Amino acid sequence: MTIACAACKKQIQESQSNYNDAGEQVCDSCFEQEDLQKNMLKGFHQVASGSFSVSVLSFFFNPFFILSIIAISSGLQTIRIFFSKEKDYVIDAKGQAGYLILACLGILIGLLPFVQVFLALALGTSATQQ
Ligand SMILES: [Zn+2]
Repeated sequence: MTIACAACKKQIQESQSNYNDAGEQVCDSCFEQEDLQKNMLKGFHQVASGSFSVSVLSFFFNPFFILSIIAISSGLQTIRIFFSKEKDYVIDAKGQAGYLILACLGILIGLLPFVQVFLALALGTSATQQ
């Protein structure tokens, strides 16, 4: 017996169908596609929350600004994934905006020590000039 894939409407053998999270029967390629999306979203959440938590950690432990650099690069990676328009990497912008904010915070906090160094240098220079 053949049925229509719930996602792409292709006719498939019922015995060869897969059940997705919503309980619909989908063909192999749609099932894999959903799996990709899920993994990608998981990766997106990981880099976003990673960026933020590493940036917080950098307040306590930050040799050679390594944690700051990780926080900034993870944050930038989050933004890149969020705005990427590749077919397999589409992010629900409204639903995932919170993670984008998390990543931006990670970048901002990650930048703090560099701003501090910059200010110290700038103020130090102006102090010696007076
Ligand atoms: Zn399909």
